[in-house]
Amino acid sequence: MDYEIYDVMIIGAGPAGMSAGVNARVRAKSVALVSRRFASPSLAKAPSVHNYLGVEEMSGTELYSRFLEHARRAEARLVEADVTGIYDMGGHFSALTSAGDISARAVIIATGAVQSASIPGESELLGAGVSYCATCDGPLYRGKRVVVLGYTAEAREEANFLAEICSEVTYVDLQRGKADKGTPLANSVREVVGKVVGIRGESFVTHVELVSEEIPVDGVFVIRESIPAERLLDGLVVTDGAIAVDREMATSVSGVFAAGDCTGRPWQVAKAVGEGLVAGLSAARYVDRALAAARAEGR
Ligand SMILES: Cc1cc2nc3c(=O)[nH]c(=O)nc-3n(C[C@H](O)[C@H](O)[C@H](O)COP(=O)(O)OP(=O)(O)OC[C@H]3O[C@@H](n4cnc5c(N)ncnc54)[C@H](O)[C@@H]3O)c2cc1C
Repeated sequence: MDYEIYDVMIIGAGPAGMSAGVNARVRAKSVALVSRRFASPSLAKAPSVHNYLGVEEMSGTELYSRFLEHARRAEARLVEADVTGIYDMGGHFSALTSAGDISARAVIIATGAVQSASIPGESELLGAGVSYCATCDGPLYRGKRVVVLGYTAEAREEANFLAEICSEVTYVDLQRGKADKGTPLANSVREVVGKVVGIRGESFVTHVELVSEEIPVDGVFVIRESIPAERLLDGLVVTDGAIAVDREMATSVSGVFAAGDCTGRPWQVAKAVGEGLVAGLSAARYVDRALAAARAEGR
């Protein structure tokens, strides 16, 4: 059903956004779920998800289609559109979208982690040997050779985790000028300091090209910060590349909540779904209070 002002508008239909939508509908709120596409670009690249509770193994695409079916049955209004800005109108929010303006009393941002694919070959080979998450994809490279391209302090932890299951781990330090290098590398990890020229391979990764050498590999893990989402909304605080939230998933802007990869690591479906639930219920509670206050004031 179309509303002039929805109770809750959710931006992004990944696992976090759909979980938020289902749970706001459980609280009988009108919900607009606005997303660039009704697909999760991240989850679509997961050949097999094996760590979502109750689902021993399933492709990311199949898991997503189950989430989407659930959101449809909950009767959230699904709007396929790109959101370019959210504006506080005093009492409600209005989103500028490619399908026109959409208004709601509360907003949930669930736009995922935006990966900046700046290494030549990275975006083409994502899901074909290139991964952003050792916890998710490490087991696919058991007994194989991997390279970790480390842009953050946490990248060394990922390399150490991979060293426990892979036959060969090379760590390329890309934290330029950072004094704090994080956890020391395990003895079995070979460290290389060098500039990356590209990730190479036709249909699957075959090697990583550095200025100094070529490293033959089966998999490449690119570990960098997510891109901040503060440009969507004035006043949104972003810390270390992630939207800052409290335990209710409330952001720095009253009436705006966030969930999923956009609030930071770990980038995992279970976290996205859990945070989506909390954000959906928090947004519903916010709307109830706002409506009660308006009634009390005779508005
Ligand atoms: C290769 C790979 C393998 C993975 N394997 C696993 C695994 O095994 N297990 C696991 O738990 N997790 C895994 N993950 C991580 C998992 O996919 C993510 O944690 C999860 O999808 C995050 O959900 P989300 O809802 O936060 O964001 P996303 O799934 O990224 O969804 C974000 C949505 O927001 C939309 N959007 C973004 N910006 C806008 C905008 N401005 N306007 C409108 N819509 C917008 C996008 O189109 C998308 O639909 C993997 C990820 C990758 C890349």
